[in-house]
Amino acid sequence: MAPIQPMEVEGPWSEMAPINRQDAFQVPKPQSVFGGIQQNALRPFKQRWGMLVLGGGAILLTAIVLLFLTLGSRQGPAEAQGGKTISAPPPPVAPSFSCEDAAAGEPWDWATPTAYNLTLKLEAGHFDGGVDAPNHPRFNASASIAWRVRRRTRCLVVQARGLSVRSVALRRGGGARRVLCADAVACRATLRELRPRSDDTWRTDLVAVDLGADVLDPGEGAAPALTFEYTGVMGAGAGLHRSQAFAAECVAPGTSDRAPCARALVATQLAATHARSVFPCVDVPRFRAVYNVAVEVPGEVGLTVLSNSPILRVGMGTTPGSLRHSFHPTPPMPTYLLAVAAGNLVAVKPGLPLPKAVEALQVQAWVVPGREGLAAFSADVAVKSLAFYTAWTGIEQPLTKVDFVAIPGKQGAMENWGLLLFDERRFLHSQATGGSFGAWRAADVVCHEVAHQWFGNLVTGTNWTQLAFNEGLASFLEYHCLTAVGAPGEVLRYRAPLPQARLPGVHEGPTLRALCTDASPFRPAMVAASDAAVGTGGVEVYSKAATFLRMLEVALGGETLQIGLQALLHERALGSANFGDILVAAAAAQGTIISTDPLAGGLPETGTAWATQPLLPLRNASAVAAVGQLPDRAGPFCATAQLPAAGLGAEEAARQALCLPAAGAAWTLPAGTGGVADQSAWAGSVNATGLFRTLHSAAQLEALAAWATQVGACPGADCALDEGRALTLSSALHDSAALTLAGLLPVESLLDFVDAMLRMPAAQRTGPGRYLLLVPGLETLVALSAGANADCPGAMAAYAATVIEPGAISALAGVASRVSDTGPPLSHDATLGALSATQLAAALIALDIDPAATGAALCPALNRTALMASTAAGATASAAAPFISPDVEGAVYAALGAALPGCGAAAPGAAGLPAALRRCYLLAADDSAAERCLLALPSVRGLQAGQWAWALGAGAAQGVAEFEGKGLEVATRARARLAAA
Ligand SMILES: [Zn+2]
Repeated sequence: MAPIQPMEVEGPWSEMAPINRQDAFQVPKPQSVFGGIQQNALRPFKQRWGMLVLGGGAILLTAIVLLFLTLGSRQGPAEAQGGKTISAPPPPVAPSFSCEDAAAGEPWDWATPTAYNLTLKLEAGHFDGGVDAPNHPRFNASASIAWRVRRRTRCLVVQARGLSVRSVALRRGGGARRVLCADAVACRATLRELRPRSDDTWRTDLVAVDLGADVLDPGEGAAPALTFEYTGVMGAGAGLHRSQAFAAECVAPGTSDRAPCARALVATQLAATHARSVFPCVDVPRFRAVYNVAVEVPGEVGLTVLSNSPILRVGMGTTPGSLRHSFHPTPPMPTYLLAVAAGNLVAVKPGLPLPKAVEALQVQAWVVPGREGLAAFSADVAVKSLAFYTAWTGIEQPLTKVDFVAIPGKQGAMENWGLLLFDERRFLHSQATGGSFGAWRAADVVCHEVAHQWFGNLVTGTNWTQLAFNEGLASFLEYHCLTAVGAPGEVLRYRAPLPQARLPGVHEGPTLRALCTDASPFRPAMVAASDAAVGTGGVEVYSKAATFLRMLEVALGGETLQIGLQALLHERALGSANFGDILVAAAAAQGTIISTDPLAGGLPETGTAWATQPLLPLRNASAVAAVGQLPDRAGPFCATAQLPAAGLGAEEAARQALCLPAAGAAWTLPAGTGGVADQSAWAGSVNATGLFRTLHSAAQLEALAAWATQVGACPGADCALDEGRALTLSSALHDSAALTLAGLLPVESLLDFVDAMLRMPAAQRTGPGRYLLLVPGLETLVALSAGANADCPGAMAAYAATVIEPGAISALAGVASRVSDTGPPLSHDATLGALSATQLAAALIALDIDPAATGAALCPALNRTALMASTAAGATASAAAPFISPDVEGAVYAALGAALPGCGAAAPGAAGLPAALRRCYLLAADDSAAERCLLALPSVRGLQAGQWAWALGAGAAQGVAEFEGKGLEVATRARARLAAA
């Protein structure tokens, strides 16, 4: 509750809206953004480093903290230390910092922005959704930047990309403006592009502004301000950009006649490094500033304009007939969180009364006209999730409103502070057709982005190499949120991968996703030469980091991690942190004293491996007779992280089975994650909370199968399977499959284990059982049948004939009988049934089991999945052109179902799916979106070329095949061919 000094915004500054320093940002225990953050937080530990205490999760924590501290200082001393100069001391003789020095120096040690006045001028054409409207129109804007000067300088350095600057002016001491340049030619001399230092890979697009005769000194009465007038270009889904077109009603000029028209929204996506394409700025997450945003729009069209903060006033714009929407100042925040959304938007108020924790907030959802009814579910989840995180963190947001906007055609979602922007296909939900699956998807994305309001926005990862701080925490906590908001199936989705671990989004199912696919360390690598691609780290920074945090939570027990994170948020509010700081905070909450001196007692390598090693550690249980004899340290890390895909070349398969060198291989089993579920001679990852693989001997797997049979015994028709046990078994199944494919476990042992899983009544009769055991069991067989292991084909043929086919067909009958292909609402169990049935179909076809025999039994489930998929977000589907979100994996299965004899013709949702899939592929906004459409396809990779052609159109079949073999550039060519066809 202490008043804070958000930023040093010195006034008066006539163009700037007043900033209420005392009241706007009530965040406890604030830190100055600049300087000393790291040192202050670590000082108590440093003073006591000699008192190293180890116990419980402490060894793991200690090691990882040491690691991160070491890495932090290695990868960028100035970054890691809150801007303190290490790398480039000021030149000893120069009287002031000059633009010549800027090329080699550390310019933001001399001066950094404290506030931005940004005016964007939008024109009528920007909102035109007609086919002739340009996708990348230009826009005019102005930006005034107030600077805090720390050292005498005559050069200010910003980042800018693709901006055509018309004029630059400097104002000092509240006095008159001095024009530094007044036309494009002159400004090219005033603005100097700087080549980034070769060792500085995330500071690109640098522009030095030569102040000429003006020399700025620290402590000037008013902040010097630099004003740019410029023109920018709207981007493709990034920067300032236009949405997909949507249908609306427009009023003809000069009349009151309404007529149908096509419209587009204008919105921002500034993460990771696109702010610089909208306004000149210092585009580095650890630098916070206050933003005073104004947006001018044509007055006659009655557009809604939203930004991070509430509207302050609407007045006349600078061009005739335009209206200027001015917004209250934002909290101090990084550039990437700034947001604007403008256009034909309709508000949807939550149906729920605001809980006490968030009653001071105005919460609204916004959609384009006609889709209001589809936003009600997510609007309520928004309220509940804000209340959940407020209670969980013990910190109220420094905001007075939070808007959630569903943008047509947006790729992904963005957590902009106070203005969260979503892909409408994911945010909108129809309870009638989406079922619990659709509800889960919508709730999950809201829970994830709301988590960022604290983890990412209130406290920000220091730079883009610390994305795991933002994304690991949000991906971990979103599941606690899902539980709190009552979303269906959260526990299951927490840990269960979709078929063949081909999860479409980065958020879903961290634990088993990490086990299946995460082959890299979760510390993003620096991106050489350009930072345009930073922040696009792979799934590792989401799922692997989230799973690591889950493992840590279990190891620490109780609420220790929560208490640690609360302390961290209080300490660093309106500041930044590294992933290692989470571990320091958790250790402090546990009462463990962590040494932060890398030299103290040497650097134990245990535990550090998760963060720095690719792949997963291997725990060899097969060599010991009893679990009690298992060492708590083991190695090495093995590249058995991924089930090899069918058709994988021998060389690639061998590469995936390689183990890393012994160096760095030692690791410590976290307490509570690798114990013994029931006292048997085997050791699993309990509740699938361990981020490691366990290798069992054949005898141990036999004991595990016997245990499974015992716990799975359920005499009733509706037997329940304890989810924890199902997860433990599922984890063992995934491990054993991966290790078999790596040649470390006999195929016969795995087949016996799979057989036991498939025969468990619970695996066939309950949703979780099917999802966690039956489907993974069959998928394991699909992977084996691909022949990655030389022993497989013979064993598989016999096994398929005697076990799989009869068992699977009877299982299908049980699955299908519980699924209705029409009629809302869909129960969670039926949703899981439909999804797992479609997955079964994919597996059975891949295993060459007669589709005719299975198709009829599967039809109802397939049809249901088709319906869910084609309307998963409920929003924009129509019978003629069902819209397929690239991340709706069900669509692929539905297309598969439609391919089954006697099923497709009757499927209400499946008829248009082949065309829709093709459309998804063709219309993808960029290559990565197109790739996602294609990446959903391996689930049906067993299809023959003719069936591919049936599903995607003749031109696509070849393209898909090439894509799988050769990579994305082939997909790009295939798209071009398809488009031409
Ligand atoms: Zn995120």
